Amino acid sequence: MIAEKNKVVSLSYQLREGGAEGEIIETTEKEQPFVFLFGHDQVIPGFEQNLISKTIGDSFEFTVDAEEGYGDYDEEAIVEIPLDAFKVEGKVDYDMLSPGNMLPMRDQDGHMLQGIVVEVTEEVVIMDFNHPMAGKTLHFKGEIVAIREASADEVSHGHAHGPGGHHH
Ligand code: ZN
Repeated sequence: MIAEKNKVVSLSYQLREGGAEGEIIETTEKEQPFVFLFGHDQVIPGFEQNLISKTIGDSFEFTVDAEEGYGDYDEEAIVEIPLDAFKVEGKVDYDMLSPGNMLPMRDQDGHMLQGIVVEVTEEVVIMDFNHPMAGKTLHFKGEIVAIREASADEVSHGHAHGPGGHHH
């Protein structure tokens, strides 16, 4: 069986920022692999492109630039939001607004977005809605741990179920 659309792929990897000699920013072990449904935009495009047709036990090592990763860093994704929008019963929770904190927010269309607090002034909260890995070159090195056929439910939901996946 090979990694391709509608297969559930489990893998272990080490992610470095910048390239093969970069700093390790994420490690996923074989015992608790990363599990995803192939071909359903669950992962960045550059990740799947480099894994397609791999089989169980295959190792991999590749670099993904920002374009095929989390996109370029967008200055316009830094937004000022009135402090009033953060008031709960007339009060602002300043602990929640510590710079560097990630907060779930809703845009005008009701979509959930993750924003990082950059700065809090007397009137506004400056938030950065870029993905934390936007603009970064990513280097992945790892091994395919398992591949299986996805269930009809998984294909219709667009994600993997079971250990490492979503639970329903
Ligand atoms: Zn589901």
